[in-house]
Amino acid sequence: MTNDPTYGFDTLQIHAGAKPDPATGARQTPIYQTTAYVFRDADHAAALFNLQEVGFIYSRLTNPTVAVLQERIATLEGGVGAVCCSSGHAAQIMALFPLMGPGKNIIASTRLYGGTVTQFSQTIKRFGWSCKFVDFDDVDAVKAAVDDDTRAIFGEAIANPGGYIMDVRAIADVADDAGIPLIIDNTTATPYLCRPIELGATLVVHSTTKYLTGNGTVMGGCVVDSGKFDWSANDKFPSFSQPEPAYHGLKFHETFGPLAFTFHSIAIGLRDLGMTMNPQAAHYTLMGTETLSLRMDRHVENAMKIATWLENDDRVDYVTYAGLKSSPYFERAKSVCPKGAGGLFTFAVKGGYDACVKLVNALEIFSHVANLGDTRSLIIHSASTTHRQLSAEQQEAAGASANVVRVSIGTEDANDLIADLDQALTKATS
Ligand SMILES: *Cc1c(COP(=O)(O)O)cnc(C)c1O
Repeated sequence: MTNDPTYGFDTLQIHAGAKPDPATGARQTPIYQTTAYVFRDADHAAALFNLQEVGFIYSRLTNPTVAVLQERIATLEGGVGAVCCSSGHAAQIMALFPLMGPGKNIIASTRLYGGTVTQFSQTIKRFGWSCKFVDFDDVDAVKAAVDDDTRAIFGEAIANPGGYIMDVRAIADVADDAGIPLIIDNTTATPYLCRPIELGATLVVHSTTKYLTGNGTVMGGCVVDSGKFDWSANDKFPSFSQPEPAYHGLKFHETFGPLAFTFHSIAIGLRDLGMTMNPQAAHYTLMGTETLSLRMDRHVENAMKIATWLENDDRVDYVTYAGLKSSPYFERAKSVCPKGAGGLFTFAVKGGYDACVKLVNALEIFSHVANLGDTRSLIIHSASTTHRQLSAEQQEAAGASANVVRVSIGTEDANDLIADLDQALTKATS
């Protein structure tokens, strides 16, 4: 009942996946702080281990608190299932793991979170995987980059940090033609602002560390499956279409249909990679999801006011917020994220690198941190921090040049935030 898809987002964000605790009637989802679960008898245990019955075995695989969060995020994204993991970066590896193998590649947008650029350009090479970075505004270039070994296309709906909006539908069409899944990182947009699955995405990944939790308390990640991809249409995805030796030759797609990805991620991914979300983290994130739409509306309203104020200020060179008419992505934002272009943008300060450093030091309400999606307003100078490992060209492609700062606008009083920026800009540029 609580997952009735005809309910509105505001209802689902509170109720989806949850019901009063069957043992105690507890209305709030309990934190099941346990590692293991007692089997009814030996036959029950055998059925669970054979994946013939769904249930709880050991918390590396499944936990009742985490399971509620999985069902909630899947419902909010319009997917059939989800698997939570220990961080957003873990979620990215969990999404790629069953699709990839040595010698296989992915195609990713040049406009991504800095940590993701590093993960894809450096670390995944150690698995024998590789990534080709392409400008996603050049759809023909994305098409041309697909080869026989390409197993996924990856992009961010609202890219962190540059105020870039991806044409999700156009890139989904390229993925469909190639018979491979499109993976969307929906961290900065959240399912309230953007619905990647409705726009053609196969998988959606999240850093739940950010807006879904909302208060900057716990790390977490999630992979949501649309359930729409035909893993057996070609021979590219043997993890789902071919017999799995570790489960007596079971074929995940044949056995679990639209839930193949979700079951594989739990039964193989979490079992063997162990990037599990803990129940305390799931609890905090469940609390966060209950107010997601309320917070996102305020994040967007404040971001709009502050971006407009900054754009009209002489000490600022430019502002990249897709909610502004001056943004090249203003029109696209209306179709990709109709409820607003998020709470995150960058602006360029006259005076370059040094002025940015002074600005960050002079702010009082804004915190200088490597995070986003907090109720508190946050600022970071990407070129000297999150995007520091990137080359100057990569920084520029990601919208993180030396004269640019990124802000994550919180839910405080917008007038206080503007006054804080005003006094800090004076100190930074005088
Ligand atoms: C933070 C972030 C990540 C990584 O998530 P962690 O939870 O920090 O591992 C990935 N993508 C985006 C867009 C992010 O903002």
